[in-house]
Amino acid sequence: MSQVSIEDIEAARHRIERHIRRTPCEPSASLRGLAGQPVHLKFEHHQFTGSFKMRGATNAVEQLSQAERARGVIGASTGNHGRALAFAARRAGVHCVICMSALVPKNKVEAIAAEGAEIRIVGRSQDDAQEEVDRLVKEEGMVMVPPFDDARVIAGQGTLGLELLEDVPDLAVALVQLSGGGLISGVAAALKARKPDIRVVGITMARGAAMHASLAAGKPVSVEELPTLADSLGGGIGLGNRHTFSMVRDLVDDVVLLSEEEIADGVRHAYWRERQVVEGGGVVGISALLHGYIRPEGPVAAILTGASIDMNVHHRLISGENVDLMQEAF
Ligand SMILES: *Cc1c(COP(=O)(O)O)cnc(C)c1O
Repeated sequence: MSQVSIEDIEAARHRIERHIRRTPCEPSASLRGLAGQPVHLKFEHHQFTGSFKMRGATNAVEQLSQAERARGVIGASTGNHGRALAFAARRAGVHCVICMSALVPKNKVEAIAAEGAEIRIVGRSQDDAQEEVDRLVKEEGMVMVPPFDDARVIAGQGTLGLELLEDVPDLAVALVQLSGGGLISGVAAALKARKPDIRVVGITMARGAAMHASLAAGKPVSVEELPTLADSLGGGIGLGNRHTFSMVRDLVDDVVLLSEEEIADGVRHAYWRERQVVEGGGVVGISALLHGYIRPEGPVAAILTGASIDMNVHHRLISGENVDLMQEAF
């Protein structure tokens, strides 16, 4: 078990700051009225490739040795991490392969190909894709960059915490997305090193919350993965989890679980009140405030983590429709 330190996060910041956007933190008048305290929204959905995953991926790519750069990087993520890794690798002139199953929707494949990655379609499940990744790591020496359980990735995501505290020096509560836990581990490590009394609250969806179930069990466990509006928050934490389980256990003060309808309300609020197009996984801090889960005693910050929402789903949500992806999947 190893944890990422504030020194690691400061070093990451120095390494990546030329390559990422320093996203703005904007006060929200509508949420201030609800929370009774100043609320700041970090516009990380404006990050390159549309999510904070750029930070961790860039920090990993920038630390490759010459020999590793020559062999290239590889991953099996079809979402924001895959896009970020492809972008970071191309910028650094490093070859990037993303393996995915034949069942991945065409728009996702194209989004990753557009960032310059080589796509390998293998098998019919995420496990098949991961096997191909393992084979290329073993046989061709490619370097796997995992989406969250990696010290370089966690330190990169933690740079977001340093920016938050510079923009909101009197921050009392940070609302941070919780899935694999790379983001919240890095952000909590940064915030608590600088200001130990900040409360860090993890927010996730009730449908398939693997870290929450693991914390309750006292060890990493797997849960059934179900369709959700917050698809970026889905997936397991890995039964052999090395970093994020212990960091979340030690650094996160509370976890809030949200229903699909609460997540939908966050997407609507982001659009109609803040004029922002944000994906389901990106709005959960807003959802938690809207639905009264947070009773802050000082300034609050929430992170809008990503923008990659299916625009047809977005259109239906903001038009007031109830969208249940569980129903539509069958
Ligand atoms: C990956 C992701 C998250 C969750 O981050 P973890 O490090 O897995 O906890 C939240 N929001 C968006 C948009 C993401 O892409």
